Amino acid sequence: MKKIALLGSTGSIGQSTLSLCESHATLFQPVAFAAGSNLELAFAQCARWRPQLVSIATEELASQLNQRLQAAGVHGTEVVHGTAGTVRVATLPDADFVVSAIVGVAGLEATYAAVLAGKTVGLANKECLVAAGDLILAAARERGTILLPIDSEHNAIHQCLRGGAADEVKQIWLTASGGPFRNTPLADFEHITPAQALKHPTWTMGQRITVDSATMLNKGLEIIEACRLFNLPPDRVRVTVHPQSTIHSLVEYIDGSILAQISVTDMRLPILYALSWPKRVASDLTFDMTALRQLDFQPPDFERFPCLRLAYEAAAASQAHCIALNAADEIAVDLFLKGDLPFLGIPRTIEAVLALTRAGSPASIAEVLAWDGTAREQAREAALQTV
Ligand code: NAD
Ligand code: MG
Repeated sequence: MKKIALLGSTGSIGQSTLSLCESHATLFQPVAFAAGSNLELAFAQCARWRPQLVSIATEELASQLNQRLQAAGVHGTEVVHGTAGTVRVATLPDADFVVSAIVGVAGLEATYAAVLAGKTVGLANKECLVAAGDLILAAARERGTILLPIDSEHNAIHQCLRGGAADEVKQIWLTASGGPFRNTPLADFEHITPAQALKHPTWTMGQRITVDSATMLNKGLEIIEACRLFNLPPDRVRVTVHPQSTIHSLVEYIDGSILAQISVTDMRLPILYALSWPKRVASDLTFDMTALRQLDFQPPDFERFPCLRLAYEAAAASQAHCIALNAADEIAVDLFLKGDLPFLGIPRTIEAVLALTRAGSPASIAEVLAWDGTAREQAREAALQTV
């Protein structure tokens, strides 16, 4: 029985993870949760799973959650809060496996703490790897910590890499659905609304990643994530637009063979792969090969999706630029969702912040967070000027 600490339990990945704990109850048991501000769902999850520990965003929410749990007769769950609370969840001595699925840099300290504590970490939170991939990978190497990607493309690459040695890899191909605006005329981009951007053609996910998919900044973050996880330079991480999202990614080997991973578009599968690695366990997440008729591919359109270009530029420039790229996007997406920034204001804001960023490599997580904070300030100012 693997004991799971779940960072981001109330989110899309968190809920998919818990559904696997239901369907594979003899294999996986959740023992700790970290949630943001969704008190109702955090309460329901604690009542169902009775974890040892739960962390919620603020002290006030923690006190409300505690009262509700006591009133409901759930006495064995300790309630903590804030970033320190997420770190406690990530390092709970009884947990063997940490699922990192808090959205954004808010999950960084807990994820890093899990790596330092030597837990096996299933990584959904790509922003951690974009902002602090070098530090996380170095700590994992030093401690012998196993990192398993949950992001579907990187999970596919992880599977395909079992087909050859690292020095036999020529390059990797990340597939991208192209998002909802793959065929939208460029002239209409200025008027894209949050409701339109939140309709993803193939995946159901949290808000930020859904908007990032519409700008293709998500694929940009995934390029950097892949560089860190698989130790490749950006020019060996290629993108191909594949609207059906049937092939989740591919590895091209030096002999000319290309291995691809095909499965349903359901995040439970990459989560299950990570939870059960190095074994595979049976599931009902089957893909009907007899129904497969067509796989389409096209090169990415860098003019329509400037975020993709900006990500390649940041990846080539420095780690400081990767931090700035992510931070500026987090702010810009938030403003866009509130109706305070047009859709094209997102790449404009990121470009303005990248232009202000000086090359550098952070020496610590504290430095990552400080640089992230500076980029956020710059993004708020730049966004005002791009409206
Ligand atoms: P989501 O918005 O649905 O959930 C985010 C979770 O983080 C929630 O539980 C929320 O309460 C929690 N959270 C937010 N701020 C917090 C804070 N300050 N402290 C503690 N908890 C906090 O997002 P999601 O779609 O589940 O994505 C989570 C991560 O996984 C993201 O990094 C995303 O890029 C990545 N990812 C998601 C998918 C997907 O299909 N949803 C696929 C690949 C990668
Ligand atoms: Mg992905």
